[in-house]
Amino acid sequence: MMEPNLTITSQSELAEAIFRETGQNVNLCYQCRKCAAGCPVSYAMDYTPSQLIHAIRLGMDDLVLNSKTAWLCATCETCTTRCPQEVDIAKVMDTVKIIALRRGVKPAVPQVASFYKATLANVKKCGRMFELGMIMGLKLRTFDFFKDAGLGMKMFKKGKLKMIPSFTGAWTTWKIFRRVKNFEKKNRNA
Ligand code: SF4
Ligand code: SF4
Repeated sequence: MMEPNLTITSQSELAEAIFRETGQNVNLCYQCRKCAAGCPVSYAMDYTPSQLIHAIRLGMDDLVLNSKTAWLCATCETCTTRCPQEVDIAKVMDTVKIIALRRGVKPAVPQVASFYKATLANVKKCGRMFELGMIMGLKLRTFDFFKDAGLGMKMFKKGKLKMIPSFTGAWTTWKIFRRVKNFEKKNRNA
């Protein structure tokens, strides 16, 4: 495999791993903090997006991979559009989560990880989102059976929650999942 072409050099193995996975060079960051200023959920994060990028550059793997920041990221891409250095920070956040899971690091916000798993399992099975099935899958994962029950009832009464999935496009969706799995397997062995 070709060595990553990091324009500004770094000793950080994590920065290099992110570059290999996504082509995003966090070493271009000059800490203007525009990403942090525009992030709608930075108030709930333990480290702002700019702080996390800096920690990646410094090779502070434990801090980065155990941080809540990437797990709370809503992938709204405000940071990505604001970054003067064109660092796709939203993509970096996704990659931090992937690397954390690959290295066996427990998700810092387990509810979010459970939501991802329940959603993906649901879409894989039904071909598209079947909300009621996804909610049930999430409840079984989190054992939080009564949270948002009132909201669920309101949606049900307004006909927003269907009782039966449609399975439209299920075969196509399943093929996409299979292709992604094969791609990941190939990349792992490369
Ligand atoms: S993509 Fe994530 S980190 Fe970037 S602004 Fe949105 S929530 Fe914040
Ligand atoms: S906006 Fe870009 S350059 Fe500025 S702190 Fe964030 S990542 Fe760094």
